[in-house]
Amino acid sequence: MPQPELPLSGSCRCGAVTIEITAAPIMTAACHCRGCQKMSASAFSVTALIPTGGFRVTAGTPVKGGAKGTQLDHMCCPACFTWMFTRIHGVSEFVNVRPTMFDDAEWAAPFIETVTKEKLSWAVTPARHSYEGFPPPAEYPALLAEYAARG
Ligand SMILES: [Zn+2]
Ligand SMILES: [Zn+2]
Repeated sequence: MPQPELPLSGSCRCGAVTIEITAAPIMTAACHCRGCQKMSASAFSVTALIPTGGFRVTAGTPVKGGAKGTQLDHMCCPACFTWMFTRIHGVSEFVNVRPTMFDDAEWAAPFIETVTKEKLSWAVTPARHSYEGFPPPAEYPALLAEYAARG
């Protein structure tokens, strides 16, 4: 699987918010949950886990969207409402960035897929690992190592 050429820049649909990553993803994922289906207006969302220090907003001021719950901050463009990235409360190591914002997203094939219990029967991804819910925390170190070593 190709790696992104860094730095990698991207934008929302209208261009009011631009983002940049300067660090390689530690993993990629597809999420089939109903919330992601609605927010992405598609069968599943695609996510790249980017080390927090390697992600920044370079123009515009994203606003909170989605369910606005206590666990997740879904950040969107205030003009076109594109869902661009998500911060998970209590997780400081990485930011969940939507790789389809970037000029190049070929590298973002999902490595794992989550919440397959809500998956649409016709939705197919190339993920190597599938989970009915989310991976147990104890499995993350092995998953990250396998992603880093993948050919
Ligand atoms: Zn926009
Ligand atoms: Zn989801």
